[in-house]
Amino acid sequence: MRFDLITIFPEFFVGVLEHGIVRRAKEAGIVQIHVQDLREFTTDRHRTVDDRPFGGGEGMVLKPEPLFGAVERLLGHGVGNAAGRTALAPGTAILLMSAAGKLFTQETARRYAGFERVILICGRYEGVDERVAEHLATEEVCIGDYVLSGGELPAAIVVDAVTRLLPGAVGNLASTQNESFSAAHEVRNRAENGEPRVAGGECGRVLLDYPHYTRPAEYRGWKVPEVLIGGNHADVAKWRREKAIEKTRRNRPEFIEKP
Ligand code: SAH
Repeated sequence: MRFDLITIFPEFFVGVLEHGIVRRAKEAGIVQIHVQDLREFTTDRHRTVDDRPFGGGEGMVLKPEPLFGAVERLLGHGVGNAAGRTALAPGTAILLMSAAGKLFTQETARRYAGFERVILICGRYEGVDERVAEHLATEEVCIGDYVLSGGELPAAIVVDAVTRLLPGAVGNLASTQNESFSAAHEVRNRAENGEPRVAGGECGRVLLDYPHYTRPAEYRGWKVPEVLIGGNHADVAKWRREKAIEKTRRNRPEFIEKP
């Protein structure tokens, strides 16, 4: 899978995607990550990427020309104009990072893991000329209900969340199926014996992960729960299920259906 990150701060990504699973996935050729400097697609002496908003108001807006130019260069073909759009190759997505986008969830990450080519556009300032959202991007992606100063961190988050779901990226496949927000986690749990029912089902809005412990068995007087040390697999599974429900109820009550 290939990711292209389009940004006015290419140096931002130095280091951020160089650790752990993402670094290993790059080394193994599972992902290629290319960072594209937006300013290479400016035509003026000052390499201008932004301009004042029509209609007045605060701040500056990223201009459409460099963004369309950058994406078209990466794709190797034009995307068209008001008279007609050129179709993208299957398996290609163009994501605009946007606080006004659709919420990015584990389910979104799983869907993106099926793409071959993902181009991520990082906004800055007050945002991006709307023609990019309407006529260039295939999706507008919001990573959470807060406003950041740029799309670089959101893009890095999307790359990380998607990469770890690609076949071969994580040593043990089960670990991406049994974690927080994972539908497989909930389907398996529900198959045991039931209630409470959890909202979301296949949508990925499911149980959070159960608590994990490692050695030492006692630390500053705080003991690891006895059941985990006992070695009874059925008891451990039951305890984990209960704790996952408890934690979901406490931290994300909206995931648990009301009776
Ligand atoms: N005026 C905009 C915020 C602009 S923030 C608004 O009110 O919606 C500048 C850039 O940061 C955005 O263009 C976007 O690329 C990025 N950004 C900020 N918050 C984000 C979020 N929660 N998810 C994804 N991208 C975000």
